[in-house]
Amino acid sequence: LRRDDFSIEQMAELIRKGSRVHLAKGITLIESNRLEDFHKGQELLKLLMPYTGRSIRIGITGVPGAGKSTFIEKLGTYLCQMGKKVAVLAIDPSSTVTHGSILGDKTRMEQLSKEPNAFIRPSPSAGTLGGVHRKTRESILLCEAAGYEIIFVETVGVGQNEVHVRTMVDMFLLLTITGAGDELQGIKKGIVELADGVIVTKADGENRKLAIKTKNEYNQFLKFIRPNTDLWEPKAFTCSSLTGEGIEEIWAFIEQFNHHLQENHLFHEQRKKQLKDWLLSSITERLRQSFFEHEEIKEKLPSIIEQVTEGEVPVSTAVEKMLSLYRK
Ligand code: GDP
Repeated sequence: LRRDDFSIEQMAELIRKGSRVHLAKGITLIESNRLEDFHKGQELLKLLMPYTGRSIRIGITGVPGAGKSTFIEKLGTYLCQMGKKVAVLAIDPSSTVTHGSILGDKTRMEQLSKEPNAFIRPSPSAGTLGGVHRKTRESILLCEAAGYEIIFVETVGVGQNEVHVRTMVDMFLLLTITGAGDELQGIKKGIVELADGVIVTKADGENRKLAIKTKNEYNQFLKFIRPNTDLWEPKAFTCSSLTGEGIEEIWAFIEQFNHHLQENHLFHEQRKKQLKDWLLSSITERLRQSFFEHEEIKEKLPSIIEQVTEGEVPVSTAVEKMLSLYRK
């Protein structure tokens, strides 16, 4: 990124006018692990904040191979052709741990990427300054300021990850495939409870019948869980991203959900809650970092661990001792 090409003010202006090139550059600032870029990214965000907030943010989760990218490509293309602006951001938890990427290494969404109304961004890599989730949240804001009305946040389902993503989106969809008939035994109830809808993918050819059966089983199951969104009844669907069957119906469902949030004044309430979660988790993260980077803590921690594990000092006493070192 050549930093001297334009000022942050110009960049903000160009992003608002819909320049995808500048949106991409803006996100690169946000994602950078250099302190100087971080500050520029924050400056950019501040300028764009007044123009954020007008989108529906949709989290899409599912195991690798569930059909997430193919689904987003199909639905996204459908929406772009309706004249809507669609952004796709990805969160790949593996990049946090291994710096590898489950999501990044495929040729992704080729058709959608040709749509002038689409913006696709692969997952950020980890690093300092708040990590992957901060980067995605701020990228969402930039996309909103650039006028994207529908923002998909795609994530691989690995448990903890969905919980994070749930706190940054308005609607959460779980994609699942049919298996040998015992699908529902294998699903993690906790993840289904986060979902506003379940989509059984690849409902085409020989698989179509089984997919419908799985959908019905999910619908049964969904009746008994406590919905994540107030007064909303999650539903299951089938869909084929090859034939397009189910895509229209799923979009109608998403719109219905959006109306539900708006009519019941849940939209702003949820977004406020998202911001509060973000603030509190950022504070926790920063404190954790600064605690473990504290010189005296770093120096004394090994011996304190030793004392605790040898049974010489109770855990709570050790904690108090460490905290008083930290507060000094
Ligand atoms: P992801 O890992 O969840 O993003 O899954 P992909 O979208 O990459 O899909 C995994 C595989 O399933 C790919 O080989 C796709 O071509 C295939 N696939 C995805 N959607 C469908 C579908 O609707 N029907 C069929 N038959 N295959 C599909």
